[in-house]
Amino acid sequence: MIIKNTCPRDCYDTCSILTTVEDGKAVKLQGNPKHPITQGLLCWKIKNALKFVYSPERLLYPLKRVGPKGRGKFQRISWDSAYEEIAGRFRKIIDKSGPESVLPFHYFGHMGLLTAHASQRIFNALGAGKCLPTVCSLAGRTALKYVYGSYWGIDPEEMPNAKLIIFWGLNGPWSNLHGYNVAREAVKRGAKFYLIDPVKTANLGKHLSIRPNTDGALALGLANYLISNDLYDKESVRRYAHGFEQFVEVAKGFTLGRVAEITRLPREDIVQLAHDLIELKPNFIHIGFGVQKHLYGGEAVRAIALLPVLVGSLRVHYSNTDRDVNLDFVQGAQFSGRPRKLYNMALLGKILEEGSVKGLFVFNTNPVINLPNQDLVKKGLSREDVFMVVHDLFLNDTCDYADIVLPATSFLESFDAHMCYYHNYMSINERAIMPMGEARPNYRMFKGLAEAMGLNAEELYPQEEALLEEFMAGSAAIDFSLEDLRREGFLKMAVKPQDRFPTPSGKVEFYSRLAEKDGLPPLPGYCEDDSGGYPFQLITANEMHITRSQFHNVWKDEVEAGVLLNENDAMVKGINGGDRVRLRNGLGEIVMSVKLSSNVSPGVVLAYGGIWAKLTGGKGVNALIPDHVQAFGGNAAYNSTYVDIERF
Ligand code: SF4
Repeated sequence: MIIKNTCPRDCYDTCSILTTVEDGKAVKLQGNPKHPITQGLLCWKIKNALKFVYSPERLLYPLKRVGPKGRGKFQRISWDSAYEEIAGRFRKIIDKSGPESVLPFHYFGHMGLLTAHASQRIFNALGAGKCLPTVCSLAGRTALKYVYGSYWGIDPEEMPNAKLIIFWGLNGPWSNLHGYNVAREAVKRGAKFYLIDPVKTANLGKHLSIRPNTDGALALGLANYLISNDLYDKESVRRYAHGFEQFVEVAKGFTLGRVAEITRLPREDIVQLAHDLIELKPNFIHIGFGVQKHLYGGEAVRAIALLPVLVGSLRVHYSNTDRDVNLDFVQGAQFSGRPRKLYNMALLGKILEEGSVKGLFVFNTNPVINLPNQDLVKKGLSREDVFMVVHDLFLNDTCDYADIVLPATSFLESFDAHMCYYHNYMSINERAIMPMGEARPNYRMFKGLAEAMGLNAEELYPQEEALLEEFMAGSAAIDFSLEDLRREGFLKMAVKPQDRFPTPSGKVEFYSRLAEKDGLPPLPGYCEDDSGGYPFQLITANEMHITRSQFHNVWKDEVEAGVLLNENDAMVKGINGGDRVRLRNGLGEIVMSVKLSSNVSPGVVLAYGGIWAKLTGGKGVNALIPDHVQAFGGNAAYNSTYVDIERF
């Protein structure tokens, strides 16, 4: 039997999958060859997904803590006891400290509409606190809202026609495999490809090994070169730009010499890129999320996003999530009596230290591993006056601090539907196999909790198909039914027009009135991080074998903890490949092994994210990452981290 599935990982591609099931057991996962974007190809992580689905380490029963927080000692309990305990504790917290002192803490470890979005319904009904999603792309989305009025970007199905493709801070082969393959095919047909990134991950086209966090300066330098040499597209600027004259004054400061010095890129490469931008059309600029994960990352995205209008294109691609669909309905905004208190998730350690959050429900994320300031997060989660529930597939680092751990299903064990932040196809995920042990999908788990808390569970969590049908019928971008989707597996949603900009001026705002209203500079600019005197920039990336902070226990043989260092830097520091090195800054120190690589820019230490601290000596690289946030959206600034490195 072949079942239609969808990869739920927080990944650009949202691959369509065909699962072979024999005697109730999934035996093979294949990419669906009919899907226009993912074209039958699955990445290594999901080709091998059966290893985590059938892992002997899967959580099969609810657990209750029996030892001190952080030790990970639990005893098995029933679902009824778990619900009774959770409902009782949350009720007490709400009665004493108010509903906003209960915080659902979640991200997109599973991106399904039912699993990720509908989970919000119970918390809307309770009036609980709300997690502001600041650990990934929010700064860039905020920037694009200032510039374009929305963060809608080019449809990736336009990439094959591009003459110039730029992956700007995008780790294609590891993080956007299908987009990268399309780029490779386009290059074979004559397109020119650039990778602008401090780490070379693509063996394609021209690599500009930019100094991290200087992308905004490069964009402003390109703009200045085009304007001052009278190369820019005047008709495009006349039709689509607002505030161009004021912008020209800002861009003037970014001369070739200055930009080359800031970015450490050769002047001739910057000049060539500027000429390619104006001469090779159409272009496709895909900005990766890494570009904006520093203190001035939103500014960088804002500056890059202005380039298309200067050269006669309209937009970049970033994250196509603001389509015309009624996500509020799925999330249950209609059940919320008043605005919920917002908590910046990147600041969890500080929030817990401050003390007003007394109850945490963690799902679809692993905060001990993926948040900055790991030690403060652990300290907060160790508080005896914080009651924490975690719903997950495995006993990860965060579970070790939980009072109750609930077993979650994998994507093969639950029904769902997906939308994608890259391409525009909606796709179905049928349940392929029965849940392992007593594991429950989020939707059903929260329905049970709603019942235990005396809420109207049937209204909050109706039958799954009914909820999806109502969502689809109320979404302008979806002109097909759930039945159509189940039959076809995936169907394309409506794309938005490229030339409509819902900004106050109706144009691309070089001078942003929305930014001004938010108390930010209306014109783009560039700022340097303060390195605090530390000589190396520590940046993190997802290695191709790791699914962010999930499943490192399953992939521990494939994913080795460690850092990468440029060979010349290593020589200066007397470090050899394979050495143990100490990384140190004001937050503390960690010891790891080092690999040497010419693919990493000088002055950069690259660490892989998602490595479980409990499997690698108790401390992850996040212990060195400060929990400072940027002005654009309050987004985390992981890559504004500076360290020293020495042989251990
Ligand atoms: S992780 Fe990404 S590339 Fe891999 S199968 Fe899932 S959606 Fe596709």
